[in-house]
Formats: sequence, structure tokens, C-alpha cells
Amino acid sequence: MGFNDKSGVIKQVHNDDSKYMSDCMHFLNSLSKKTATYKYAFFKSILDNLFNVDDKLELDFNYLSYSFSKMYWNLIAKFKLPQYQNGGRVSLIEKAIYDIINNNQLLDEIDFDSLSDTEQNEYLSRTKNVIGINVVGALYSDLNYNIYGFDKSKKKIWFSEESYNFLTKYKSALEKLNYYAWILWMENNLSIANKEEGNLAIKLDNSTKRESLESFKQSLFDKGDTLECFYCGNPVSLRGCHMDHFIPWSFVKDDQIWNLVFSCSHCNESKNNKIPSYVYLNKLIDRNKNISLEVYNNKLIKLYDSALYNGFVEWERA
Ligand SMILES: [Zn+2]
Repeated sequence: MGFNDKSGVIKQVHNDDSKYMSDCMHFLNSLSKKTATYKYAFFKSILDNLFNVDDKLELDFNYLSYSFSKMYWNLIAKFKLPQYQNGGRVSLIEKAIYDIINNNQLLDEIDFDSLSDTEQNEYLSRTKNVIGINVVGALYSDLNYNIYGFDKSKKKIWFSEESYNFLTKYKSALEKLNYYAWILWMENNLSIANKEEGNLAIKLDNSTKRESLESFKQSLFDKGDTLECFYCGNPVSLRGCHMDHFIPWSFVKDDQIWNLVFSCSHCNESKNNKIPSYVYLNKLIDRNKNISLEVYNNKLIKLYDSALYNGFVEWERA
């Protein structure tokens, strides 16, 4: 199941809100895969239109498409915030916006509501396809297939009673979490990130981050940890190796020696913000025993389960 599918059903109905929260966090935490901000905008469109469902809890694409398109127009034209990765391909929506501005000799920063009906309709007809083709299925899959189902030919999405209740109950909190993930994405991927006064989300998030983990290398080595990559087993040097937070720093926000392992650059970069599989958890439990850190293993296991529950994605070494 994925973004190319024509339709998708709701895979699981939960009777526990925290499971839906976990599905949503799975989407909000998966920063690395996005080359544009489509999914954030689409998630916002869903939240903005929750009260436009019919009595079968179905929501017409037209509502979503209108919100999505208006939002994009204003972000890109009015506020000059591009929504695709630096150096990446210009998104189809961005291209549509600039075509309409240029072809109609409009002001560069014109807002959506100031467009004529003809201009709005031309723009909406071009964005509708993008949403249908790219976004509905991709977000569906990022949300673990549990929040909504969709059918592209019928041009609608729908909710289960349980997922709908969850979304309405936590609408405001989800909206704010989505903004935060979206801002963080923009700061990480757009040239606005270079402005000193910007980067508020990154600064908040990194406000307790240690400048260097070098001192931990020596401590681990002195305790008797082996100088090899914890994940692939290749030999590494004390100077050249990476210090990897087994459970990502972005989750624990803390540097503890029992959560740090020697890693080659390849594994460290490939793992990035993900959680290693259980095989590695067991390996780390053993590692900690071997270097007299076993008192922390219970804490490690709790953190591990908690990170998975919070929607952190599992990493498999390629
Ligand atoms: Zn490695």
C-alpha cells in the first residue's frame, strides 16, 4: 500500500486514543522522507475540514483541495515561503502559482482571495491533480493506514467513528504539533534556515544539545567497549568513529553512556533518527552488561518501548 494506490481502506480501528496518537506521531516524526511539505498541508486541510464530513463521515476531495491550494498559494506567493527542498525539483503547485502570476501579470505577492474567479479556478484545476496523485495515499501510509481511507475515483476520504472522534477531540493539539513539524522541516530544508534570526523551532529543539560527544568516546573505550561499529561490526578508530545515540537524541534529549555506541559513519547516517530493531536492543543490553552498565538496562528497555510507541520509525540495516 502506498502513494500510487487508487484507494485504501482503514486498516485498524483502535479503541484507545493513545494508539491513534502513535499513528499521528509516526507521520510527524518521519522527517527524513519528505522532499516537500505536501503532507503537512494535507494534514492541516483534513483538520480544517473535520466538520465538513457528511453523515457517513465522508469528506469530499473538493473541500480538502480548496484548503490545501489556498494555503499553498498564500505561503508561497504572499509570504514567500517556498515549500520544496533547496536544490530540489520545483513542485507542480509552485509552478502553477508562478505560471498564473506571470501569465496574468499579477503582483508577485498577491494573496489568494485577491485572484479573480477565473484565476482561482485555473489554479484549483491544476492543484487538484497533484493532491489526488501524490498526497492522499502518501499521508495515508505515513499515518499507518489507520486514520482515514480514500478512494481517488470517488474523490473522497472517510474516517472510522473512532478515528474521527480522536481527531475532533485532539484537533487543536494535532494542529499545533503539525505546525511544529512543518516549521522544523522548513528550517531544515529551506534557505530561510540561513537567517540568523530564524530557526526558532531548531533552536528550541537543540537548546539542551551538547556541542561534542568526544569525551564519551574515551569513556566507552576505557570501560572496555570494542572498537567496532555496533551495527555492522566493521572496525573503527577512536578518532574517526561516530558516537551514535542508540535511541535517537531527538527522543531522549539526553546523552547517557549506556545509550551511546561506536558507529561507522555509514551506519550512523543511515540510521539517523530511527530506532534499531530488537536484535540490536538485545545486543546493547549485552554490551552494557559487558562494560558494567547493566543497572541501566531496565531504563533502556522502557525508553525503547516508549520511543516506538511515540511513532519513531524502526531502522533495518541495509
Ligand atoms: Zn557500520
